[in-house]
Amino acid sequence: MNYQDFFKGALTELRDQGNYRVFADLERHRGSFPRATSRGAQTADVTIWCSNDYLGMGQHPDVLGAMHDALDRCGAGAGGTRNISGTTHDHVLLEAELADLHGKEAALLFTSGYVSNWAALGTLAGRIPDCVVLSDALNHASMIEGIRHSNAQRMIWKHNDLEDLEAKLARLPLDQPKLIAFESVYSMDGDIAPIAEICDLADKYNAMTYLDEVHAVGLYGPRGGGVAEQEGLMDRLTVIEGTLGKAFGVMGGYIAASAELCDFVRSFASGFIFTTAVPPAVAAGAAASIKHLKSSNAERVAHQAKVAEVRSELDRIGIPHVENPSHIIPVMVGDPVKCKFISDVLLKDYGVYIQPINYPTVPKGTERLRITPSPVHSAADIAHLIGALGGLWEQCQLARMPMAAQ
Ligand SMILES: *Cc1c(COP(=O)(O)O)cnc(C)c1O
Repeated sequence: MNYQDFFKGALTELRDQGNYRVFADLERHRGSFPRATSRGAQTADVTIWCSNDYLGMGQHPDVLGAMHDALDRCGAGAGGTRNISGTTHDHVLLEAELADLHGKEAALLFTSGYVSNWAALGTLAGRIPDCVVLSDALNHASMIEGIRHSNAQRMIWKHNDLEDLEAKLARLPLDQPKLIAFESVYSMDGDIAPIAEICDLADKYNAMTYLDEVHAVGLYGPRGGGVAEQEGLMDRLTVIEGTLGKAFGVMGGYIAASAELCDFVRSFASGFIFTTAVPPAVAAGAAASIKHLKSSNAERVAHQAKVAEVRSELDRIGIPHVENPSHIIPVMVGDPVKCKFISDVLLKDYGVYIQPINYPTVPKGTERLRITPSPVHSAADIAHLIGALGGLWEQCQLARMPMAAQ
């Protein structure tokens, strides 16, 4: 086999389908985020409209102060796995902060949210005898990979469909171990799971629940504990999983659960045991971010206000976007080539950075621009974005809402 030809061929196919991914080479500006320098073919200042640093915590003075302090106290890396010299006091404090955030006995830190899902689901489903995983059809790749890796039996239930979930649960013996895996805010459509009803079904059929709150922690609930906190449901969930890399603005992932469950995953998960711990400065920064958002609601209020403003401006000029109760605004284009074209022109001609979201991240035909407003976007930023999108909608002959409705 000619290996190079094989690689080239596969990439050409991806390009032809409009699904080839190109990085935006960015340099974020501390103190003026969402501003960044784009270092592509030409260097230009851009405004980021697709970041998961939803609240701008990646530049918060408390977070940067804690990171600088830890760096000066402890140096750069953790120096080992958690078991072999890599557990620093900052890791211990962060896990206590996370357990408290979710009202759980314990929390366990991983190098990323992806790894936390992969390792925790893989270990729980793989080691509980005869465990069946009931997995929402739109679960994130990290959950799917963890479940697959566990080799446990899995049943995929229709997205957010309680009837389908119940039908599948009812088919299983009541005493067979079951784990229902789902998300609160789904990141591409921005819809929210019926958490209380899923917990009711879990009680009825004697199942554990595993909730990915990656797109909700920091953003919802009086202390940023997520949608489950907002709805008063945290104690009903067996496992709450989250990231420190999105609204908390730093990096890392975790689960929060009972002391025994966390200790079990800590003791058996390869993806926890055999990897170097996150740097102490990262742990300290994340802890500072969580601590701040536990006591400050201002960021969450401003965030929701900006989201509402962008939605109403899109409505005013008739640009179709998916209605949902969250902070994610999916503007539907429905064509991978046009989606990429619009994104390219936005960046090149308007200094607006919105990454196109194409297959396989979303189903074919639902290609979209996923807009994530933050408290640090100004009214002028919004006006500029709306003007640019309006012009491009015209140019690409995309339907406006009143027409689309017909
Ligand atoms: C981003 C994401 C993850 C992974 O979290 P990272 O910290 O980025 O690795 C897990 N679940 C969902 C739903 C996500 O969107």
